[in-house]
Amino acid sequence: MINSELKNLIKGKVSYDEPLKRRTSLRIGGSAACWVEPSDKEDLKKLLQVIKKEALSLKVFGKGSNLLVKDSGFSGVVINLETPHFQKLVFKEKRVVAEAGVSLPTLISESARHDLGGLEFAAGIPGTVGGALMMNAGGKDGSIGPLVNWVEVMNLEGDTIRLERDNLEFSYRRSNLMGRGIILETEIRLQKREALKTLSMLKEVILEKGMTQPISQLSAGSIFKNPPTGPSAGELIEQCGLKELRVGDAEVSYRHANFIVNLGTATAADILSLIDKIQLTVFQKHGVKLELEIEIV
Ligand SMILES: Cc1cc2nc3c(=O)[nH]c(=O)nc-3n(C[C@H](O)[C@H](O)[C@H](O)COP(=O)(O)OP(=O)(O)OC[C@H]3O[C@@H](n4cnc5c(N)ncnc54)[C@H](O)[C@@H]3O)c2cc1C
Repeated sequence: MINSELKNLIKGKVSYDEPLKRRTSLRIGGSAACWVEPSDKEDLKKLLQVIKKEALSLKVFGKGSNLLVKDSGFSGVVINLETPHFQKLVFKEKRVVAEAGVSLPTLISESARHDLGGLEFAAGIPGTVGGALMMNAGGKDGSIGPLVNWVEVMNLEGDTIRLERDNLEFSYRRSNLMGRGIILETEIRLQKREALKTLSMLKEVILEKGMTQPISQLSAGSIFKNPPTGPSAGELIEQCGLKELRVGDAEVSYRHANFIVNLGTATAADILSLIDKIQLTVFQKHGVKLELEIEIV
């Protein structure tokens, strides 16, 4: 099925042996056996039923901005919701219903156009709404989880379920949406704020990130989570003198030690080897075991 009949069954785009390099912000990784962009919920449901029946492995990709795909690729089906049916935004007073395929920059700028703010903390995060909910994306000034009223998901049987606020748990770069299925849409609370004010707040966040992070280079954002107490992951790595440590074309950023950048032709093996070296050195020097924030596919 993975190689033949899906194209007849699904209305949306289906491609085989899809290079995932093109689909991640690190521009690294092998191919997916199958890449599907369902055209609507019915399409997605059919796809999930096939995946279940054939016991195929499944991964959802947003912008791939928190993912390191191995050089061997992914042998299952990748689902991507960045198609018009999953990219709608509906504003209602101080709330927005955002579909999973909307990019965060679009969500923020469209909210500003409606004189609504509250998402400025997410400026510069290049993900989709689906990826942001899954990861509880955010920074020092806030994260998306506390603003969420409900999330609609399609479970692996193809049923649509609404998870209300009381059933949702968000913590540091985690949510209990993991393993619940495909995130379809969410309602987010916003605040009344004049567009010009929002724009100036966004500019400030972006300027600060530009000074401290390698925003013009290929990366997946922070590689490690910050430990619950003590110095940040970046500080620990920097104190070990690891800035600019390089394996192949993978390098610990000189701007921010918790970013690994792809200088051009880095492989997943290069990044993984650099991660090992960092974890080992930080553990030997500080006794801290750094935990990955990025996800390995
Ligand atoms: C330059 C740069 C800066 C960054 N800065 C930050 C930052 O400040 N704060 C921060 O938190 N993160 C940051 N990140 C990391 C990343 O952008 C966020 O984690 C983002 O939320 C990931 O969204 P995505 O759409 O790219 O998800 P992906 O990386 O594609 O996926 C992330 C996870 O979400 C799952 N997923 C995605 N969509 C769905 C869906 N519809 N249904 C079910 N599961 C889904 C995937 O399977 C995966 O498990 C940064 C990344 C880069 C490259």
